[in-house]
Amino acid sequence: MTHEVVPQTMGQQFGRRSWAEPWKIKMVEPIRMTSRPERERAIREAGYNTFLLRSDDVYIDLLTDSGTSAMSDRQWAGLMLGDEAYAGSRNFYRLEETIQRYYGYKHLVPTHQGRGAEHLISQALIKPGDVIPGNMYFTTTRQHQELAGGTFVDVIIAEAHDPADPHPFKGNVDLDKLEAVIKRVGADKIPYISLAGTVNMAGGQPVSMANVRALRALCDRYGIAVYLDATRMAENAFFIQEREEGYADLPIAAIVREFCSYTDGAWMSAKKDSLVNIGGWLAVNDDEVFDTARNLVVVYEGLHTYGGLAGRDMEAMAIGTEESMQDDHMRSRIGQVRYLGELLTDWDIPIVQPVGGHAIFLDAKRIYAHIPQNQFPAQMLAAQLYLDSGIRSMERGVVSAGRDPATGDHRYPSLELVRLTIPRRVYTQAHMDVTAESVKAVYDAREQTRGLTMVYEPKYLRFFQARFEPIA
Ligand SMILES: *Cc1c(COP(=O)(O)O)cnc(C)c1O
Repeated sequence: MTHEVVPQTMGQQFGRRSWAEPWKIKMVEPIRMTSRPERERAIREAGYNTFLLRSDDVYIDLLTDSGTSAMSDRQWAGLMLGDEAYAGSRNFYRLEETIQRYYGYKHLVPTHQGRGAEHLISQALIKPGDVIPGNMYFTTTRQHQELAGGTFVDVIIAEAHDPADPHPFKGNVDLDKLEAVIKRVGADKIPYISLAGTVNMAGGQPVSMANVRALRALCDRYGIAVYLDATRMAENAFFIQEREEGYADLPIAAIVREFCSYTDGAWMSAKKDSLVNIGGWLAVNDDEVFDTARNLVVVYEGLHTYGGLAGRDMEAMAIGTEESMQDDHMRSRIGQVRYLGELLTDWDIPIVQPVGGHAIFLDAKRIYAHIPQNQFPAQMLAAQLYLDSGIRSMERGVVSAGRDPATGDHRYPSLELVRLTIPRRVYTQAHMDVTAESVKAVYDAREQTRGLTMVYEPKYLRFFQARFEPIA
């Protein structure tokens, strides 16, 4: 596909040697181009919120990499092997064995998607008044921690909050900051550390193996558990393989296993790494935590051998998990994200650096430096990109951050970003070119652009359904 975008893993270069995806296309899905007047009407009707657009009105859909991957022929074939028994489906046992093999945890509870698993672990472990430190918040993760009565405290390294800082592992936990939190609130108030690899809200930034190893040692001293958001852990492993000494010759699967071995369990949105359109799981080592979660799952999701999924979904998830761990797959997945990142970088468009695993994050704070954060610059940037070309992206700034439950004020995150998320195995290099050119056009027109005012605000996870109007 592209050339010289992943030099470390391409081996020696003699002149131009391109790489290409390790698959070919067997089926296509037509997408529709719209006119500018059509898009103007659509975004107005959607309240300037890209989550409220109809997908039929979207040309290139970079809203999310969640559930938007193309499944392989094997996964589609797997759907035909669904065992739709209410209890004890064959596909559950296949999935359980696959998760144990790749992630190494003892017990598995399937859930309909990631937030189902977040709900279970939060309800199982958090008591009102507890504190959950983590390497930057994630929207649904923190929401479930708060609904269980906990308070999230950010302990990611300071570099993560600076979009231009080139630190290779911007997802790392600041262990001094964490230890200060432990000393301040007491270890008995901390049910677990909420660790994510890669860190979505920081720009898909990885955690190093050295950091998780040191985190484990620190938590052992205080008797605190570590639970992992494994949603993009295979992508995290790619960065460890590329950047961390001693891991260049290890396959991604081995790196994932070692990383997970420093944690007590994980929740997973299989709609990301695992290449399925729906699915998730919670996996833990502790027998008692498993017992609680397996009991809760029947209340909220479904029986513990299907957790809200059809048997065929579990089969596709097991196959997708195996495919997600293949080095060739990951190289082309992250290579495509980098290709887009390099086009934008060449044009001096401010994006989060280094480019992370699943998306390009446009730095709306710098692009729209004249729009104050309470006029939602990233929300407007996403709307402008849609107006220009029909490309759909999403806001990751003050709207996503929501309000502080204690004060009721907006939380003003230091990162005010627009995410161009690349679905896995879906778009071509030409789609990336069109995307980059549209970003450039919007960037060039930045001075004429004004902010937004929020005219409807839902109570929970407001970014999904909030509505806006342009400031005249
Ligand atoms: C998507 C996501 C979740 C939630 O998973 P869903 O499948 O959307 O419910 C949790 N954590 C991270 C890091 C995610 O990206």
